[in-house]
Amino acid sequence: MIQKTLAKLVCNDYGFGCSFETKENEVDKVIKEFREHTFHEHHIDYQEGILMKFITRKA
Ligand SMILES: [Zn+2]
Repeated sequence: MIQKTLAKLVCNDYGFGCSFETKENEVDKVIKEFREHTFHEHHIDYQEGILMKFITRKA
């Protein structure tokens, strides 16, 4: 049985005052999209491991 997880990251949750959010069935995709966003918009290069913690903490 394949279990689908819906992973989500909301930029505003991390104090940017920004409405960007990404929601995907694959955690890898969410991390990739969120990293690209924070890098280009906020000039912050998050480590993948940190974003993984953000996601799992909320799950
Ligand atoms: Zn943002």
